[in-house]
Amino acid sequence: MQQLTNRSVQVNRAPMTFGEKIYIPAIMKGLSITLGHIFKKKATVSYPEQKRPFSPVFRGLHVLNRDEEGRERCTACGLCALACPAEAITMEAAERKPGEENLYREEKYAAKYEINMLRCIFCGFCEEACPKDAIYLSETVMPANYTRKYFIYKKEDLLIPHPKKQESAQ
Ligand code: SF4
Ligand code: SF4
Repeated sequence: MQQLTNRSVQVNRAPMTFGEKIYIPAIMKGLSITLGHIFKKKATVSYPEQKRPFSPVFRGLHVLNRDEEGRERCTACGLCALACPAEAITMEAAERKPGEENLYREEKYAAKYEINMLRCIFCGFCEEACPKDAIYLSETVMPANYTRKYFIYKKEDLLIPHPKKQESAQ
């Protein structure tokens, strides 16, 4: 048969020598390789006690931002959803009512806002598209889970804590 590459090796079918039959040289060779690796720098870390430093451009879980008074910045314009190549973002807009000026910065806000993290590829396009500085990707690694529904992050999961309520709780 014609060979596709020149890397093929002819199998040696000669009977084993006495040294090969007792396996001791092969065992010693294997142990020497193991011993050689014991004193080398470990390639692994003891996670989660030890963590590797992330790249400065690492993009983790999304965060919905508030302004300095604690009002939600998102105006439900939909630009992030439009920019998302994975179609991971969905939202429902609502009109701000009189008396809600302390809750929402703009006249329109996201009554519902969801990101499907199973679809998300953490490209950061949503952050770049947002004209209100309302969404950004944090340095938090998304936790693992066994159930799909825990990967659908709702507005309540994404919003940062209210700065004033947090201050009074301290
Ligand atoms: S990071 Fe990229 S894929 Fe994920 S929600 Fe934002 S735009 Fe979509
Ligand atoms: S997060 Fe930004 S881009 Fe997305 S809907 Fe809200 S304001 Fe618009």
